[in-house]
Amino acid sequence: MVRDIFEHAVKALEQSGNDNSRFDAAQLFEKAFGVQYELADKSAPADEKAAGLFNGYIEKRQSGYPLQYILGEWEFYGLPVKVGEGVLIPRQDTETLVETVIRKSRTQRPVIIDLCSGSGCIALALERELSPSAVYAVELSEQAAEYLKQNIELNTSKVSLTVGDCLDKTVIDSLPKADIIVCNPPYLTGDDMRSLQTEVTHEPQSALYGGEDGLDFYRDITRAYKTRLKHNGMLAFEVGHTQAEEVMEILIQAGLEDVRAYKDYCGIRRAVVGFYTEGQNVRVY
Ligand code: GLN
Repeated sequence: MVRDIFEHAVKALEQSGNDNSRFDAAQLFEKAFGVQYELADKSAPADEKAAGLFNGYIEKRQSGYPLQYILGEWEFYGLPVKVGEGVLIPRQDTETLVETVIRKSRTQRPVIIDLCSGSGCIALALERELSPSAVYAVELSEQAAEYLKQNIELNTSKVSLTVGDCLDKTVIDSLPKADIIVCNPPYLTGDDMRSLQTEVTHEPQSALYGGEDGLDFYRDITRAYKTRLKHNGMLAFEVGHTQAEEVMEILIQAGLEDVRAYKDYCGIRRAVVGFYTEGQNVRVY
């Protein structure tokens, strides 16, 4: 019976230490059976092939493999985003960055650059919300860029993708000056990397590790990109839960103005934003 298989799966997930077991089981049920569990005939015998698939997904999930990778698609800011091994799973934290950029944007039809773009979720969300005149996404990993390409197509987006190192001079020079430069860089510290949750160990290290103190990318990207901003242009970063102060300091030291941190729904300072004013004495440090 469908109900027995489902309840058995919920228990199995619970026993593996999953505190979202009913949600996860429902998501995996829908993927295997092609129908929402809530709407399924629970007293009918389960289709054998679908049940086999379902049990396979549950087993994978029990081992700590990310739910999102099994599903192959996740939602970010109301948009469908393809994900799988080799690309960082879009986090809800990052919606704070997107919301902050939307709120603070000072320009009509801005030119936007999204660095360390990963799945492209930030670029796609900003494109939908801000009616930009152009959006550029830069991603180093070929594997992640494959997902990004799929997500551009899936969302019938006009985002232009550059596959390359955003700190490489040829990449920097190929980009136009922007009204908004946004980035969720790798920012975990050496200590963080040594105590990752099982799920996160399946995600690409290169999308997580920000150097021993977690701040390498903030320093390098701020230095390389502050003069790629137009007058009044915004540089916006997502930051780790203890990094707001230090990242604000990096932006202030670089001569950016109106540098502020913005909180997520848990009250954690998640986004750091600063503005570039042409003619200001932008310091090189
Ligand atoms: N927010 C991610 C995590 O906690 C880190 C992502 C990143 O480094 N940008 O695992």
